[in-house]
Amino acid sequence: MKFLSSHHPLSGHFRAALQREGRLCGSVPISVIATYDAKISTICKYINSEAESNFLIVLSLVLRAASKLDNLVTSVDEQLSLQRRNPLLPEIIHALVDRESRLSESLSIEVIRIPSSVEKTVEPLVLTISSNGYYVDVIAQELGVNEASKVFISGTIGKASSDMRLYYNAPECLLMDQLSEPHVNLASHDKGSLNARASYLSGQEVFGDAILAAVGYSWKSSDLFHEDVSLRTYYRLLVHMMPSGVYKLSREAILAAELPMAFTTRSNWKGSFPREILCTFCRVHRLSEPLFESSIDLAGSCKKSKVQSVKKDTNGAPVTSSCGKSTGTIGDFKCEIKIFSKRQELILQYKPKESYKKQTDAMQSSALKVLLWLNTFFENPDMTTETLSSSAEKLGIQFSPDIFSKKFMFCQSVHKFGSTRHQSSKPINYSCINQPNNIVSDKACSICGDNSEITPSNGSLACVSYSISLVTEGEFLKEHIESSEAFEFEIGSEAAISRLEAVVTQMSVGQSSFFNMELPPQEFILAAAGDSAATQSLLSSRRCILEYAVTLLQVTEPLEERMEQALFSPSLSKQRVEFAVQHIRESRAASLVDFGCGSGSLLDSLLDYSTSLEKIAGVDISGKGLARAAKTLHPKLNRNSSAEVPSNETRSVLLYKGSVTNFDSRLYGFDIGTCLEVIEHMEEEDASLFGEVVLKSFCPRILIVSTPNYEYNSILQKSTSSGQEDDPDEKNKPKFRNHDHKFEWTRAQFNHWASDLAERHNYDVEFSGVGGKADVEPGFASQIAIFRRRDSSLKNVELEHHYESIWEWSSDNM
Ligand code: SAH
Ligand code: MG
Repeated sequence: MKFLSSHHPLSGHFRAALQREGRLCGSVPISVIATYDAKISTICKYINSEAESNFLIVLSLVLRAASKLDNLVTSVDEQLSLQRRNPLLPEIIHALVDRESRLSESLSIEVIRIPSSVEKTVEPLVLTISSNGYYVDVIAQELGVNEASKVFISGTIGKASSDMRLYYNAPECLLMDQLSEPHVNLASHDKGSLNARASYLSGQEVFGDAILAAVGYSWKSSDLFHEDVSLRTYYRLLVHMMPSGVYKLSREAILAAELPMAFTTRSNWKGSFPREILCTFCRVHRLSEPLFESSIDLAGSCKKSKVQSVKKDTNGAPVTSSCGKSTGTIGDFKCEIKIFSKRQELILQYKPKESYKKQTDAMQSSALKVLLWLNTFFENPDMTTETLSSSAEKLGIQFSPDIFSKKFMFCQSVHKFGSTRHQSSKPINYSCINQPNNIVSDKACSICGDNSEITPSNGSLACVSYSISLVTEGEFLKEHIESSEAFEFEIGSEAAISRLEAVVTQMSVGQSSFFNMELPPQEFILAAAGDSAATQSLLSSRRCILEYAVTLLQVTEPLEERMEQALFSPSLSKQRVEFAVQHIRESRAASLVDFGCGSGSLLDSLLDYSTSLEKIAGVDISGKGLARAAKTLHPKLNRNSSAEVPSNETRSVLLYKGSVTNFDSRLYGFDIGTCLEVIEHMEEEDASLFGEVVLKSFCPRILIVSTPNYEYNSILQKSTSSGQEDDPDEKNKPKFRNHDHKFEWTRAQFNHWASDLAERHNYDVEFSGVGGKADVEPGFASQIAIFRRRDSSLKNVELEHHYESIWEWSSDNM
């Protein structure tokens, strides 16, 4: 009696059972007992570890236990339910039913039907539960069976706190006596009706059609608890099963955000952190918590500390390590990751090659690597084991193909990405306006608004507002899908879908842009849509596309630029340009090539001065940078000659795409070559290779190379210590000015590189710089080497074209 009036989730079922009609009065389904009695399921897992994923085992164990109590309980009509052998007195039932009848009105609950055939779409459904009805009976009827004992119930789905479960029919062929056998023979029954989507969501085998509903009795109240489950909820659950989906959901930007390719800095990372995403991924796929194993290299010695990530904090809990700072050296951190199934089979192991200055960075980067690899599989679950293995091997991931494919066997039928991968979506609808020549490959994009000249570049944070609609072709019908007032993402790490990032890098602050895209997988659209049902009907009836409208609100520049602007007046980059201009003028050069011209800041400024330059060329490896360069140079070159415009001789401007470590004879023997703040963006070997190629093959008369002076960083960091990194133990450690820098040299290192190079190729070299002073420690902020060729003759070179000509302007066209 006491139990019957308590708030135990099961007692609600007992009370409801007492209201059932006729012979079923007081009979409680075994599946309900097995599901809602936590003690029972724990005991069952002890008895048989497969009980976790096989509900039949739990049922059979409960049934066997019940048969030993046959003096107390009995089963009705050989159904899978139990009843007291001695029914309760009618007065008692009345008292309980009275209590219950406070809930007088009938309830309507939105639920979802997941058909067993993946060909059939998932659909919404409304359950009506009358005031004295038993909700499991109502679900049973929807499933086409007459009463509750034929309904099986899954474990909870989604968030741990939710009470969303799947309801499905007990497999027909199962009889009581079959279940009471000590070993349920699963193989014996028909797996043809296996419901892939429902099995995938619940991590256990579900047969036939299933109903997804959030309803039941809780510890909190004796009333029936219920929540509507919409189509959108269902699709969000599916998206939540994907590594990139967890990220997209954490940013509330399903159609705009993409799991970034790199963990650059903590401050630039938006949304859930990689480690957290990996933990969520493992939880929803019912794997054990991933194991993170950090190690520190201290002059060869390597100590390990294990962390099982049990804490639910956001930024990666600090790992306490046995190697302190006592030795005074900075440790190199690496973080290994292992993922096990619930039954402790090793599914995946990642051994990183790179090491990091910070322990949290090592952990986050490793988690991200694993996630990105998993994501390639989830977006293309049809990929062969060979492809999967070779991509894993490249990254340093070991996995067991057998366990892996068994664990994720349903992906193939559930996540149908195939060729509709977001990234590969082709722009359609040609409506290009206002683009300088043909450099911009995204022709189907229109950008409007004045050019404010504040443009995002790699490493900067772009803040945009956007709105995405589903439109039927011909634009007759339009359904709003997703929007954001302020969506911030880091440029260069693919933190937004590639097309959005490509468009934003073409824009300047204040401008807006419109473009269309082919549809991504439907689950993304339906998970994002406010009204999934309306969207689903539109999608199924017409050919649709997605229309994006984006406005660039703000650009936060990378740390390097922020420091340079805050500390120097004019800014350090302006000082570099002025330094170069001064040398160009003094040398009376007629031709200039800017190696690593980026978005053309030097070329652009040069046009503001009067110089003797006739021919100007820029080379860069980044197509995006070159596109921006063309965009700013184009209007400047075509402006009408008026009094304010300095007179210059410029006849042609060329932009080439290629690596400056390769030679191209079209740029041989120029009067002056510049290479400002570029070498530190290459690996050190490549920087040396560039040195060789430029002096040996390109042979400019003068070459100006600038790069940060590492020794100056302490000053930069002091002045901006309140800035970027909020991590106290980071403050005293020297670090690079920009996360894209592969190295930064001290004065001695730079002098050594330049002097040695000059000597070998018959050049003189002198050293200078901008920002600070040569004779005041720690020297210039940007150190500069000026190389001058000793011998003035030029040789004939063979034609060798290794660069792609991207854009060309010549005064003849004017
Ligand atoms: N010189 C410009 C840009 C500096 S940023 C300025 O002073 O503003 C560094 C540039 O070097 C980037 O645009 C990057 O794309 C380019 N870069 C890096 N490695 C390169 C390579 N191997 N070949 C050509 N360009 C390279
Ligand atoms: Mg740089």
